[in-house]
Amino acid sequence: MVIRPAPHPVAAPYRGRFAPSPTGPLHFGSLVAALGSYAEARVQGGEWWVRMEDLDRPREVPGAAQAILATLEAFGFEWDGPIVYQSQRTAAYAVALDRLDEQGLLYACACSRREIAAIGRPGPEGPLYPGTCRNRDPSGRGARAIRLRVETPPIAFQDAVQGLVTQDLETEVGDFILRRADGLHAYQLAVVVDDAWQGISHVVRGADLSRSTPRQILLQHYLGLPTPIYAHLPLVLDGQGRKLSKSDAAAPVDSRNPVPTLLQAWAFLGQPALAEPPLNPEEFWGQALTLWRLARVPAAARRPPAPSPPE
Ligand code: GLU
Repeated sequence: MVIRPAPHPVAAPYRGRFAPSPTGPLHFGSLVAALGSYAEARVQGGEWWVRMEDLDRPREVPGAAQAILATLEAFGFEWDGPIVYQSQRTAAYAVALDRLDEQGLLYACACSRREIAAIGRPGPEGPLYPGTCRNRDPSGRGARAIRLRVETPPIAFQDAVQGLVTQDLETEVGDFILRRADGLHAYQLAVVVDDAWQGISHVVRGADLSRSTPRQILLQHYLGLPTPIYAHLPLVLDGQGRKLSKSDAAAPVDSRNPVPTLLQAWAFLGQPALAEPPLNPEEFWGQALTLWRLARVPAAARRPPAPSPPE
């Protein structure tokens, strides 16, 4: 048996979002996620919101949030609504955590990473939590994280790009953390609370996050929140075939010369060549939004195409 999420109400208006973490400047991989989510929202006649995922204060790079917004502007993205900052949303995450606690789904855990690594079975995302603190009171053992008791059949969802994605959370993820020992709420909790609070109907983002989606669907289920429609865009690989990521200092995109990068991201997402070479982002978007089709986006991870030669 698998849990399949309840579909989002069909009448819901389209509202998409881009949710960068300010851990560094925008690189090509995040530009692809921004472009894909923006183009799909606009072609569907929908809204596109920006949410700054600045929850993990220790990993934040000073000035990165401002730099990301300036880059989005330089690339011609126009967002709806106010920008939501997760650092302002702690009270809402605490309420959600209480709701889960009332259902007996949470427990405090005082295990160190080292203890977990020593006895946890290896999983795709590191050692699985062995359940040491599930049934004991860790009082007196120092700082505690809060974990969700994962007892669920496999979770499946229909991804608009990747097709059917299924994950067995018990064997692939285990009891995951919702609040860290340092008191910070985890991404998985915050994203679910905010996607629902902001009325996000469609989530278009990088395929690295498709392995997080079943965790998010499970939390939506426990919190009585709707499940958005998901589309996970192909992952951008670097020259060595590894995922590009901001924290690995992948090269930032060049805000002074946005058009070649926009065209490169456009081609990466399997979209057809524009009829006229655009001279600026406005011209790019003017043509792009008449052509974009999510159905053309390939599923598999790959390297970016070579930049188009200068005119
Ligand atoms: N903040 C996450 C990131 O930058 C993305 C979260 C999401 O789109 O759900 O990787």
